[in-house]
Amino acid sequence: MKNETLQAIIDNNARFVEDHDQAYFQGHMSAQHPRVTMVGCCDSRCQAHVIEVDPIDRVFTVETIGNQMASAQGSVDYGVLHLHTPILLILGHTDCGAIKAFMKGYDRENEAIKRELDFLKPPLKTQVDPHADFEKELLKNVQKNVDYQVQTALERYRAQISEGRLMVVGAIYDFTNALGNGYGRVSITNVNGVKDLKAIRELVQGVNLERSLARVNLD
Ligand SMILES: [Zn+2]
Repeated sequence: MKNETLQAIIDNNARFVEDHDQAYFQGHMSAQHPRVTMVGCCDSRCQAHVIEVDPIDRVFTVETIGNQMASAQGSVDYGVLHLHTPILLILGHTDCGAIKAFMKGYDRENEAIKRELDFLKPPLKTQVDPHADFEKELLKNVQKNVDYQVQTALERYRAQISEGRLMVVGAIYDFTNALGNGYGRVSITNVNGVKDLKAIRELVQGVNLERSLARVNLD
């Protein structure tokens, strides 16, 4: 058995230990203080440090295939209802393998994988028009899924949102620059169900949204 990967884990952690002294851990030894609950995709290309330089003690990260809440609802509830993060970020991404798998049909996956992909049924169609551009349809579905997750969160956390204690932000982490805001940009596409970019600007005044807003055309 090749153990290079295990060695790499040990070595990388040794470097982490060297770079962080006791003072670094002091503030979060007995409690955590996240400011964002992030529902992202398990995809290894998507990590919390795209939105936080050091996500430790800052991002309550819930990752599921296809960045959907249903298979980890308790974890999302924990971040929102117990840790009271002021933001719930639903972070979809370009080239999402879960959405691709859904679109291509996933009958041959095992039961556990099927069960999780089934949660994408409400927002997405399994039948893809064979004449349609697959990449374009994929991007549309990434957007549809983000919108659906935001909608679900709006219903679930209605009280927190109406009291102004929670903002639900739907965004797409775009490492292919499909949305034109730059490689690696997190483009905000939906805030509390508001999808019109001008209306989003009005909703979140005082935030510099330049190059951070986009919408996939669903027509
Ligand atoms: Zn994905």
